Parts: sequence; structure tokens; C-alpha cells
Amino acid sequence: MTEDCVFCKIIRRELPSYSVFEDENYVAFLDIRPMNPGHTLVVPKKHDRWVWDVTQPGQYFETTTKIAKALQKTMQTDWVAADVAGMGVAHAHIHLVPRYPQDGHGEFINGRNVKKIPSEQMKMIAQTIRNGLLPTVSG
Ligand SMILES: [Zn+2]
Repeated sequence: MTEDCVFCKIIRRELPSYSVFEDENYVAFLDIRPMNPGHTLVVPKKHDRWVWDVTQPGQYFETTTKIAKALQKTMQTDWVAADVAGMGVAHAHIHLVPRYPQDGHGEFINGRNVKKIPSEQMKMIAQTIRNGLLPTVSG
């Protein structure tokens, strides 16, 4: 199944993505159908069907939290919604959506209110989030 999986293709770099994070076990990249600027998907590299199949859920949540905190910092909002609906692409993923009071969504986001964000701006957003993930140099 993984040959045809869009996320596996992104992980194998057979498809481009607006990457914001990668380590040994996870990748994060911008959703190409963003509900808001900075809408990010956090994806295990292993092809698990559901988030609930991931073998190290604690590690997955820690990674997701790290990215959510970078979104809070770089997208200027404390309100970062998480969604694990799990449809769309049959490879485990968590949506992280920076939210704002007047962003046109209700309490819960749905797939009907996609924002049009030009590619150049998506690249800049991804870069901004990547910068937000860098450890802060102290001392
Ligand atoms: Zn996959």
C-alpha cells in the first residue's frame, strides 16, 4: 500500500512538500489545503493507518507538542487546534491548525473553508516555522 501513499511519497521525497520538521521517526509539513496559514500535518515515517496504531504514542505527542509550540510562537496565536480525524490520506497524521477569533471557522474546523495561499507564501510560512523550531541560543 505504501507505494501509492501520498505521505509515504513525501517521506521518500518522491513528492515535494513545504517541510517544517523532520527527525528519525516523524515529519511535519504544511497541509496543501490549509484551513489557516501554518496548518501543519505531523506524520510518523512508518506507514501506520491510524494515529492509534503508532507504536510510541508518547513520543508522537511530544513531537506534535514541540511543533504546536513553534506554531504558537511563529503564527502569533496561543490557539492551535489539533485534529485526528484520520480520513483523506490513509496514513496516520495529526492536523495542527493555528486559530484566530475571526478566521472564518466555527469552533471546529471542517474541510469546506480552505484558504488560498500562494506557493511563495507557503514557503515563507514553512521557513518561519522551521526557524521557530530551532533551539534558542542562550548565554
Ligand atoms: Zn504512508
